[in-house]
Amino acid sequence: MLSRRVELFVESVIRDMTRLSLKYDAINLAQGFPDFPAPEELKRTAASAIMEDYNQYSITWGAKDLRAEISQKARKYNHIEYDPESEITVTCGSTEAMMASMLALINEGDEVVVFEPFYENYGPDAAVSGAVPRFVPLDDDYGIDEDALASAFNKKTRALILNTPNNPSGKVFTKGELKLIADLCIDNDVIVVTDEIYEHILYDDRKHISIASLDGMGDRTITISGFSKTYSVTGWRIGYALAEKNLTSAVRKVHDFLTVGAPAPLQHACVAALRFPDSYYEELARMYDGKRKLLYNALTKAGFGCQMPEGAYYILADIPEGVDMDDMDFARYMVSKVGVAAVPGSSFYRSKKGRHKLRFTFSKKDETLMEAARRLERLNV
Ligand code: GLN
Repeated sequence: MLSRRVELFVESVIRDMTRLSLKYDAINLAQGFPDFPAPEELKRTAASAIMEDYNQYSITWGAKDLRAEISQKARKYNHIEYDPESEITVTCGSTEAMMASMLALINEGDEVVVFEPFYENYGPDAAVSGAVPRFVPLDDDYGIDEDALASAFNKKTRALILNTPNNPSGKVFTKGELKLIADLCIDNDVIVVTDEIYEHILYDDRKHISIASLDGMGDRTITISGFSKTYSVTGWRIGYALAEKNLTSAVRKVHDFLTVGAPAPLQHACVAALRFPDSYYEELARMYDGKRKLLYNALTKAGFGCQMPEGAYYILADIPEGVDMDDMDFARYMVSKVGVAAVPGSSFYRSKKGRHKLRFTFSKKDETLMEAARRLERLNV
């Protein structure tokens, strides 16, 4: 007999597509991870940390010097103040930070507001923590319907999950939108759990705004981010959660018994990452901007309907007209016959809207994207 909780969700479709991609030797534009090297200095620091014997548990909440650097970064970049001693928790990726936050906040039956489309994990996060997700669909341009959002709140609402810049849509929430969300959360005494893992991947001069920096939100927000995307080290599994001390002590308790702590030598290297100059982040955004345009052009040429993402490194595209397959069948066709793997849109929607979409990542070398473009030309629709 298995638990009811595991019946509520399926294995990750994103990672399933990676396995299919390997099977068919396809180009993996499904799972969002770079196929190019991580920064040299980071790799050297990590390797020497192991040789210098940073090989035992670090403090459960995260190495002290790393928490100090994260606190400074949060002040400078996110305009939020959190005490490294009592308000910062280093986790095994932002995935663990999100799950630990949900487990710390939710009682069985509490409701959680989630915008649709949403990142695949938030469904299982809700299921495991016992939350009932209340999906609020964004419009076709990913704008918020204020009435729909307001009516999603009720006495059972405990939290709202935000993700900006957004995976899969590429939406970057504006200050006005964040203010609207903040006001509703304050009025309804709701905590925001915000996943800001793509905070440095923004285009066309957009600025990242952390909802915790808005008036009245510092004490009712758990801000989650990590090193995977900004420093191209998705396999290191280092993330963190920032929250006022009562929330943090609950998150820390869960984290302690879930994983004890994040990998010690890699935490050591992450200190060096946070000391990179501003030019590193400018170059990162510039690099992804080029890749964004490359993939957008390739998909458009192949007949997909696309919007230019405002941030993050995905394009959520409409399946070309004339294709007589749903997202699952078409994704299987693409990986096995065209040689390009993507994620079926239904992974990101509760409604049927996702069945006409595929998500592609452009977190790949230009040559990988160009080869994908060549293969996409084979799509005869
Ligand atoms: N965040 C990445 C994506 O959306 C990787 C997902 C994962 O495998 N954890 O593709």
